[in-house]
Amino acid sequence: MDVRVLIRQEVLGQQAYPVEAGPVRIKLDAQENPLAIPPELREELAARFARVALNRYPEAGSPALAARFAAALGVRADQVMLGNGSDELIQILCIALARPGASVVIPSPSFAMYRISALNAGLTVTTVPLAADFDLDLCALREGMAARPPALTFLAYPNNPTGNCFSAGRIEAVLQEASGIVVVDEAYFPFSEKTFLPLMDRYENLVILRTLSKVGFAALRIGLLVGQAALLHELDKVRLPYNLNALSQAAAGFYLDREAAFLEQAALIRRWRAELFGALAGLPGVHPRPTDANFIFFSCDFEADRVYRDLLQRGILIRNLSAPGVKGGFMRVTVGTPEENREFIETLRDILSK
Ligand code: PMP
Repeated sequence: MDVRVLIRQEVLGQQAYPVEAGPVRIKLDAQENPLAIPPELREELAARFARVALNRYPEAGSPALAARFAAALGVRADQVMLGNGSDELIQILCIALARPGASVVIPSPSFAMYRISALNAGLTVTTVPLAADFDLDLCALREGMAARPPALTFLAYPNNPTGNCFSAGRIEAVLQEASGIVVVDEAYFPFSEKTFLPLMDRYENLVILRTLSKVGFAALRIGLLVGQAALLHELDKVRLPYNLNALSQAAAGFYLDREAAFLEQAALIRRWRAELFGALAGLPGVHPRPTDANFIFFSCDFEADRVYRDLLQRGILIRNLSAPGVKGGFMRVTVGTPEENREFIETLRDILSK
């Protein structure tokens, strides 16, 4: 039997989310924190993990944790939902809002999972290109929203892969004019320190996403959604009952107790980001763009595809955002430790000199 006759058209037409296979020496492709948690905290976390009752289902819906995050963020407990990474929360939003014929507006380029989850949920995707400076193009967005009023609009703040925060005024215009929910995805908040959280009360359609993946817990898959209680009441029906496993719940509680240590690492990464930016700007044909995230997006005067492969051959993985064989293009590199960054720069310098 050809199973493809059974599969939905939107699924058949997609590529799975690209994740490079295999271990590499220096991994700078996925916006992870390059540092492990400090040794003194590791034992404390291990002790908490040891107390988790692995024979029991985790607490369904993590209400105690949601209440703690809500208090930390200054919102009510019924305004916070935890997810198995913010990826899952994006998926839950798409499933809940995918009424027949509903559509979603997504700027381009942006985080790939918005499109993948929207298509999988049966939403129609309207892609709106960013302006030349990678800010939101309000005219194009208005056209897109008028053509098909979206149930959902995704805005990453800062944006992945471009690294910049869109102008706050343009995001507010979208919040005022959009017909549906507007998601402001603040996955990189620890590195931007810019947030729409204070506008939560002003815009009923505002949903904010956060994650612990970029500050040190990528392996544990802990995401947060903040929105109005009536919306969360409905989203809760889509969420799988035990979506956040018990070890992740324990780690999330630990994060709240020890947040300062994680934020100290984020501050270090911001410092290393400035150094990496300076070094990149000094390389021939490399044009890094200003960034508010823990990664740097840069355009290249050379064939990015070839340089990407040469880097990989030498054990360094970054993200290639170029079409194969096209001269010029874009790349994205995550800020690593100073040693990793130095080796990346020296290797890239060597490749470009050949
Ligand atoms: N939003 C954005 C903008 C991202 O870049 C990413 C990670 N690449 C995510 C969400 C997903 O994060 P999580 O690990 O919490 O699923």
